[in-house]
Amino acid sequence: MAEFDFDLFTIGAGSGGVASSRRAASFGAKVAVCEGSRVGGTCVIRGCVPKKLLVYAAQFRDGFEDSVGYGWNSHVPAFDWEALIARKDREIDRLNGLYITMLKNSGVALVEGNGRIVDPHTVEVAGKRYTARNILVATGGWPSLPAVEGIEHVATSNEALHLPTLPHSVLIIGGGYIAVEFASIFRGLGAEVTLMIRGDDLLNGFDDDIRIALAQEMTKRGITIVSRCKPVKVVQGAGGYTVTDHMGREHSAGLVMAATGRRPNTRNLGLEEVGIALNADGAIPVDQWSRTSVDSIYAIGDVTDRMALTPIAIAEGRALAETLFNDNPTHISYDNVPTAVFSLPPLGTVGLTEAQARAKYPQVDIYKAGFRPMKHTLSGRDERVLMKLVVDGDSQRVLGCHMMGMDAPEMMQALGIALNCGATKRDFDRTIALHPSTAEEFVLMREKAPPPQTL
Ligand code: NDP
Repeated sequence: MAEFDFDLFTIGAGSGGVASSRRAASFGAKVAVCEGSRVGGTCVIRGCVPKKLLVYAAQFRDGFEDSVGYGWNSHVPAFDWEALIARKDREIDRLNGLYITMLKNSGVALVEGNGRIVDPHTVEVAGKRYTARNILVATGGWPSLPAVEGIEHVATSNEALHLPTLPHSVLIIGGGYIAVEFASIFRGLGAEVTLMIRGDDLLNGFDDDIRIALAQEMTKRGITIVSRCKPVKVVQGAGGYTVTDHMGREHSAGLVMAATGRRPNTRNLGLEEVGIALNADGAIPVDQWSRTSVDSIYAIGDVTDRMALTPIAIAEGRALAETLFNDNPTHISYDNVPTAVFSLPPLGTVGLTEAQARAKYPQVDIYKAGFRPMKHTLSGRDERVLMKLVVDGDSQRVLGCHMMGMDAPEMMQALGIALNCGATKRDFDRTIALHPSTAEEFVLMREKAPPPQTL
């Protein structure tokens, strides 16, 4: 009889858990994955995928408006929120089914229910115990809400994807990825939108020029950004909600949404009981091999204290399968990870911001191009593009690429390859431009931006 029921038991069938389990099974491992909600996890069920479908919906307004400048006798047609949500839900159902089929076809056993670790080699699901040589925790994260009176009235991204009707006005607390993406969605679909941020600018951690440029464009689109502002109370009224801020000002809206970060799903997993101490944010600390402080227990994705991005969870999961089951110790690099914010206009970024580069390198060269894209010469839209290269002044290696503007996310995937290959500014310069395009500006920037003024 086998020593264990499984070689790998994965808790959580999100992007990371599914990728890791399937890759492990492809190497001949006997694998099971348990899931207490829907197979697919945050990205497929209540994150990246449904969000992007709503961004596509919101983008049509631009298309209708811009078409007039191109000779179309256009108007913005009526929009049907219920129809959009129903179609989006059908697509999510399809993907959910696809993920279940993929697990089955890969030979991974799917166990329904939440898993709890009983000992370093045993997981309990719905009252039944399964033993495994290795346990993988891939339980992801969940929206975290600020401790504010009346916060139970506030929606998170989970509920925002399922609203019965489109609210006439939305107040979003927070200024990170989720806040700016949903602000763009709701505004594009016709709602009045206010962003309440506690700092000065949106998107902490992004390049400062891009943060400022995006705030300008979002403001032009009619989004109100209230900075240095914190909510203290949320009250439900007849037609909506009123948020009182720290200065006693009242902000009313048909929907209040909090996009104030996410917390790792580590509760009720039995982690502390088997000796895994969590960090201050409730995340599972792991080493570069995704191993926790208990040798047979691993963790990947948003439940750890690394980068909360779907492709990172997938890469961590596949690397773990290589390490454990293919005799090929693998860990991933967190450098030059391209990311996007699907705001309107969108952002794309890879590598270091100017501030990060200046903190690390003695000499940093900055190249910037800001312009009105060709499309808007005829559309008349008052929207600009900003592109920026951050270059190590000594080696001339390109350290970071940042962009706000149409197609920025698509460009960043390719630029990520260039940065991973160690491309220099000269390599960018000797690449022939693709004309006419916006992307060509990345190989046409000649003038260094003046160094920042020191007081
Ligand atoms: P973020 O960490 O990006 O942003 C949280 C925002 O909420 C920040 O503006 C933060 O302010 C603010 N905030 C935090 N706590 C409070 C509070 N108590 N009161 C008021 N404001 C507060 O989290 P998100 O929820 O937007 O996204 C979670 C993660 O999901 C992201 O980190 C990202 O990795 C991932 N994601 C990725 C996407 C993509 O790749 N396109 C899309 C969506 C999510 P401050 O800046 O001052 O800290």
